[in-house]
Amino acid sequence: MLQQEFRFLIVSFDGLRPDLIGPTLTPNLCRLKAAGVTLASHRTVYPTETRSAFPSLVTGATTDRHGMVGNKYVDRSVMPPCYIDTSDALLLRRLDLESGGRLYSAPSLGEILASAGCSLAVLATNTPGTTRLFHHKAEDFGHVRLSGHFREACTPDGVLAEIEARTSPLTPAPPKTEPDRIGQDWITSAFLDVVWPKYRPDVTILSYGEPDVTSHFHGTGAEATRSIIAHCDRQFGRVIDWWEAEGRQAGVQIFAISDHGHITGHTRISVADSLRAAGFSPGVVPAPDVDVVVVPGQVGALYLADPNEAKVARLVATITSESWCGTVFTRAKDEVNGIAPGSLSNRLVFADHVRAPDVAFCFRADDTIDPFGLVGGTFYDNDRRAGLGLHGGLHPKELAALGIVAGSAFPNIGSASFLSSGICDVAPTILHLLGVDAPPTMGGRVLGEVLRPASSAEVTIRGEIFEARLGSYRQVLRRVAVGDTSYVESGMAES
Ligand SMILES: [Zn+2]
Repeated sequence: MLQQEFRFLIVSFDGLRPDLIGPTLTPNLCRLKAAGVTLASHRTVYPTETRSAFPSLVTGATTDRHGMVGNKYVDRSVMPPCYIDTSDALLLRRLDLESGGRLYSAPSLGEILASAGCSLAVLATNTPGTTRLFHHKAEDFGHVRLSGHFREACTPDGVLAEIEARTSPLTPAPPKTEPDRIGQDWITSAFLDVVWPKYRPDVTILSYGEPDVTSHFHGTGAEATRSIIAHCDRQFGRVIDWWEAEGRQAGVQIFAISDHGHITGHTRISVADSLRAAGFSPGVVPAPDVDVVVVPGQVGALYLADPNEAKVARLVATITSESWCGTVFTRAKDEVNGIAPGSLSNRLVFADHVRAPDVAFCFRADDTIDPFGLVGGTFYDNDRRAGLGLHGGLHPKELAALGIVAGSAFPNIGSASFLSSGICDVAPTILHLLGVDAPPTMGGRVLGEVLRPASSAEVTIRGEIFEARLGSYRQVLRRVAVGDTSYVESGMAES
């Protein structure tokens, strides 16, 4: 029997570092902190990329279970292998239909809610692909999924038309160098003016695509980024005003989250140049003359045309000899080590999936202070200047995510919980409060420590450290386990 007194609103701020929250920049997030419980040790999953993390939000599972192994990946289940960029909403729909509904290899929140007679609504200003990934089957259930800019990600047509008539027509996304204000305003109005009053979804995801884009193009602490953070917070303030006036009494529980942080690129390198110098023939997409695909981005993902153990070992020996190389993962040889000397097993970071690269690496990151006074710097491989925001790896500031919960289910108002928690815990906690069974693929846990009544079960907490070496290269991975759920804390390398 469903406990219908609870409804849920997940508000996400893409790429917001929790250490940027404060009374001057984000007074409304601070209002929520005062009204709720702060998850002070909240983290995202590896890789710390948007289109791995949000699938984890809605499946309650790490990438090894849901299969979205990165923003981009190589699909070797088809011949010839195919490069997939998951920012494309129409491509994602086609992949899901062609695979018999197996785009995700775990059930997602929208499907689970639908089978329990509940609804999930999505309003997002992220890329069309990210917007679809929040509820990739919304059209199959008649659920609402709205993009603040992209018609191809919206469903149903009638709801979009209704909101455009009531608020304003969709506008194209601004150039990436310009902070996106209008989109945040539109999705906030769409929720407050139409989606909530008319459709009353059981669960709503309201996802601000900023400050991520502005951080990438201006820098994490830049004036433009601070200004879009403040703007998103003002929109969030409209949501909190509604919640205090109406939503809270209607049983709405709020989760304010982010999907990853950002660190700052300080040294530009070229992975392809290093591989070429070592005798490989790298390319960015599979091709007959390419023996290793280097997936572009801040997530090091290398796919070999012939991934035999000797080739994987040669590739790992090549990159671990470079000053830019951080942690390195390959498929498991045993509980800790990967098949290549010096690498760790990709199971340790919950990234062992059929779509996973043969060699997954992070760019070497460190605790340098960036020009804005923020901790966290890294090597990077893209055509942009140094000083800009990046994420994808295992620096603690990439893994750290915003987490605040508020509502009648969370009684310790104004408190903070320092027990480790993560993005995979949101869906199991919501399903628990709705009285809906979570599927076995959900590896996240119910956040019993912040609920009413607080869980009385004794929980075991255990730190874990894993290490691998090759020559002068050494990498260390740290995790913390809370009961059966493990959270990656950091992964760092040195020579
Ligand atoms: Zn993101």
